[in-house]
Amino acid sequence: MFPEELAALLGDMGQPRYRALQVFHWLHQRQEFDLDQMTDLPASLRQALRSAPPVTPGQVIRTLQSADTLTRKLLLSLGDSQEIEAVEMNTRPEGDPEGRKTICVSSQAGCAMACVFCVTGQFGFARNLEAGEIVEQVLRFQRAGRPVTNVVFMGMGEPMANYDEVLRAVRLLTHPEGLHLGARRITISTSGLVPQIRRLATEGLQVGLAISLHAPDDALRSSLMPVNKRWPIREVLAAADAYASLTGRRVSYEYTLMDGVNDADEQADALARLLQGRLAHVNLIPLNPTEDPSLRAPSMERARSFQRRLDRAGMRATVRVNRGRDILAACGQLRLTERRRNQALAASS
Ligand code: SAH
Ligand code: SF4
Repeated sequence: MFPEELAALLGDMGQPRYRALQVFHWLHQRQEFDLDQMTDLPASLRQALRSAPPVTPGQVIRTLQSADTLTRKLLLSLGDSQEIEAVEMNTRPEGDPEGRKTICVSSQAGCAMACVFCVTGQFGFARNLEAGEIVEQVLRFQRAGRPVTNVVFMGMGEPMANYDEVLRAVRLLTHPEGLHLGARRITISTSGLVPQIRRLATEGLQVGLAISLHAPDDALRSSLMPVNKRWPIREVLAAADAYASLTGRRVSYEYTLMDGVNDADEQADALARLLQGRLAHVNLIPLNPTEDPSLRAPSMERARSFQRRLDRAGMRATVRVNRGRDILAACGQLRLTERRRNQALAASS
């Protein structure tokens, strides 16, 4: 809830409205979800809030830290037992002032888009997350270590298919009385829902946009991402161009490299031609392992060669390092492993 909504709620409960900011500060600035710890609130108010919606946090069921300590992952169980993942990625060890701390949040439990290379997509859609459930993922990581510097909507789910709650979450995370993150430090990644991309461009927000492209032509992209049959590459690029010109922000393109599928030099050339003339940046992501044995990451050598090809054509590209492999940090992997383990336990009992 925003402070003004909290104030209205408090008013309805017969409580003083001016307490709203105090509650908002406890949640967003001190990341305290336990009403009993909000010691400067009168006991009667805390009691009244117990049955109200502003404080309904999920339960942390697993926390994992990578061996290099730069990556941490949370598995959260929500009120209805849906499980979602959130990941913290640090660029530098704690204490290094140059370091960035990026939180990768989920926007849905599951995803309906069914991309073939995505563990979350292969499991289908359960439900949209509420703004509070998205914000909570960030607040939980704010509590320890350096403050959060960036947020990316690259966890489970398609953020543009949960537009209203995602936008609410962005406005809560950037709220001056809360974490007060800069909108420029938030990136929304999408598989290419054209109407929502166009709408986002008109919100007056400086949020970063990342387009999941993954293929330089429609035939291949449709075979990897069913959404391409509805909004083909040409339409997605036109919407991304509109976004760039309305917001003044450079759009980035994600391209997950799959061995023998989309990693040939000719495909790099085709990709460079496709994005020609744009102030774009390409993020090359070697595939994280999925259940499908026919999909593999290319060698690092191949990935570099693909990058050089783009480079030569004047296209800025980086190969993203796969962080946190040892903690199943790719989208959907931890939830899947946890489910398998529980199924195995149930079967053996
Ligand atoms: N639904 C949104 C955001 C979440 S997915 C989207 O698709 O953009 C975030 C990114 O991870 C996307 O670029 C997605 O294509 C990529 N991704 C999904 N599964 C992957 C895998 N197994 N290996 C590497 N990247 C993957
Ligand atoms: Fe959904 Fe993104 Fe996974 Fe595709 S890659 S299934 S859009 S989460």
